[in-house]
Amino acid sequence: MSTVQSITSLPHETDATSTKGLVLIVDDTPNNIQILSEALVQQGYQVRGAVNGSMSLISVKHLRPDVILLDIKMADMDGYEVCRQLKADPETANIPVIFISALDDALNKVKAFAVGGVDYVTKPFQFPEVLARIENQLTIGRLQDDLQRQNLRLQQEIRERVAIEAQVHRLNAELEERVRQRTLQLEQEIVEREQAQEQLRYRVMHDPLTRLPNRTLLMQCLEEAIEKSQQSSAFAFAVLFLDCDRFKIVNDSLGHFVGDQFLVAIAERLQTCLSSEATLARLGGDEFTILLNNVHHNSATAVAQTIQAALCAPFQIEGYEFFLTASIGIVHSCWGYRTPVDILRDADTAMYRAKAQGSTGSRYQVFDPSMHAEAQTSLLLDTDLHRAIERQEFFLNYQPIVSLTSGEIQGFEALVRWQHPERGPVSPEDFILVAEDMGLIVPIGQWVFREACRQLKIWQRQNLLQGSMYICINLSVKQFSQPDLIDQIDQVLRETDLDGCHLKLEITESAIMNNSTFASEILEQLSDRKIQLSIDDFGTGYSSLSYLHNFPVNTLKIDRSFIISMAETHKTPAIVQAIITLAHNLGMDVVAEGIENAEQQQRLTDLGCNCGQGDLFSRPVGPHAVVEMLNHQSQFLLRS
Ligand code: C2E
Ligand code: MG
Ligand code: MG
Repeated sequence: MSTVQSITSLPHETDATSTKGLVLIVDDTPNNIQILSEALVQQGYQVRGAVNGSMSLISVKHLRPDVILLDIKMADMDGYEVCRQLKADPETANIPVIFISALDDALNKVKAFAVGGVDYVTKPFQFPEVLARIENQLTIGRLQDDLQRQNLRLQQEIRERVAIEAQVHRLNAELEERVRQRTLQLEQEIVEREQAQEQLRYRVMHDPLTRLPNRTLLMQCLEEAIEKSQQSSAFAFAVLFLDCDRFKIVNDSLGHFVGDQFLVAIAERLQTCLSSEATLARLGGDEFTILLNNVHHNSATAVAQTIQAALCAPFQIEGYEFFLTASIGIVHSCWGYRTPVDILRDADTAMYRAKAQGSTGSRYQVFDPSMHAEAQTSLLLDTDLHRAIERQEFFLNYQPIVSLTSGEIQGFEALVRWQHPERGPVSPEDFILVAEDMGLIVPIGQWVFREACRQLKIWQRQNLLQGSMYICINLSVKQFSQPDLIDQIDQVLRETDLDGCHLKLEITESAIMNNSTFASEILEQLSDRKIQLSIDDFGTGYSSLSYLHNFPVNTLKIDRSFIISMAETHKTPAIVQAIITLAHNLGMDVVAEGIENAEQQQRLTDLGCNCGQGDLFSRPVGPHAVVEMLNHQSQFLLRS
């Protein structure tokens, strides 16, 4: 310890901050230390000394010199051992040790390097050499420090770069995951959108009730068929246009729910008649269309016949039993169609022709261009009908209703006629339905009612009508549902000063079924005015019989179709007998329509039918002919 103190107080010591470095001199000869340190201090070094090995080890730990000048031969511990211990301690291992020794043989030098020395100076030494070697070591030390700092910096940079790369990698992975998720989401959205579009396309192209292709889809199919037929003359197609007969009555009498069920059942039955290649579409209402691709001329009519046969079986819907007939128009591609609209127009025309044939015809018709002219006239009818009222083109004919027991005229049915300015007389069969569809039946009906009352009053004044003679006036379903019907009737009765007891209104079953809630109220009001009530075309509507005894009905008129079939079959249809019995049981009388021959009259008389009307007695005639009839022949001869 005393040695160290003596050394720390060495002369010419300079400030540590401005020195070139701190040198520790280890030598057990203090004089050596003294000499060397003076020289080093002069050169600007800071110097410490230690006079034995063990002391030097403590000093090194404490001082951290930049370089150690170490003597080999020392009393307590030689320089080799000091060096070995310094190198063994990580804290001191890097301090460069320069051996200074009088031992000059190579072996010693080798040993000195082996224990970790960096240099070797032989005593006696030249101070400049010692100085140079010290400076060398310090330079090497500085360079090593620099190198180490650079290494550290590089390592730090590498670490930072690795961290950044890891971060980038993580962000990339995150981004990839997000992209993957978004892609999945987008794919899902695309699938959903496609499904929605598919559903929309289906809805646009199909009828929601029957799920059949609708008009839009049919038009597309027709366009494709036209194209194919234009490309190849071997390809032919046919279109069947099917309209259910009298379907409106189902809707009018039993409501739209039953009507809808009926349509679904019809669609199903039609489908069973068709091959999988045929396209069955619903055009709307009770109209269906069938497209047959690749057909021979006869196969379309064969399909129509199959359909007619299939429709013969009754339909059971909601507890009701329905019988259906349908009219079918057939169009073949051979007429060289260019647009679907033309095909449908012609199929529709043929269908109307089939319908016009009624129950007696085949109920299907194949279109041929001569039908065009006819269709065009019916189109003109619509426009002309509008002007007919104001131009006073309507007039009335009267058909006598005759007692089948006495042959006496009981009354007349007023039947409207239209005198078309160019076409001449138009039958109500041809325009009443059109007028109903166009809503013109109400004003026409009002005119008929007023005119019939006016005529009746004239005949009364002329004393032509006996006691209870009446005039029957037809009332359409639409008229019957007019809220002010009774007011209108009252007004006409007032104007014409007529008693209601001379009037009989003819309504159809559907007029009552359609308005069943307020029908009874109206019928009561009519009854209050002593106006009688007749159910026209009885037996053809889909009605429940239960209403009959609830309403003040006086007469049932048996529809002409049943009377016709009496002549055809030469036997009485059970329905005629049933209607007569029913009417009598309910206290009503019966009028048979459309008696054309004496045989029919005879059989009806035998069945107890009260009255008859028909060409056998008289066709509907104008007012002058009625006057003639009443003056000269008010009783018909009956076959008995
Ligand atoms: P409807 O009320 O059943 O009238 C009877 C129809 O049968 C009349 O036809 C009449 O001419 C016809 N007829 C009568 N006897 C015979 C016969 O022996 N043989 C044949 N082949 N036919 C006979 P019309 O005058 O053509 O009237 C047809 C339908 O038009 C009427 O059937 C009725 O439903 C409707 N109608 C006629 N006039 C009017 C009217 O003023 N208002 C309303 N709403 N409908 C009317
Ligand atoms: Mg009638
Ligand atoms: Mg009738």
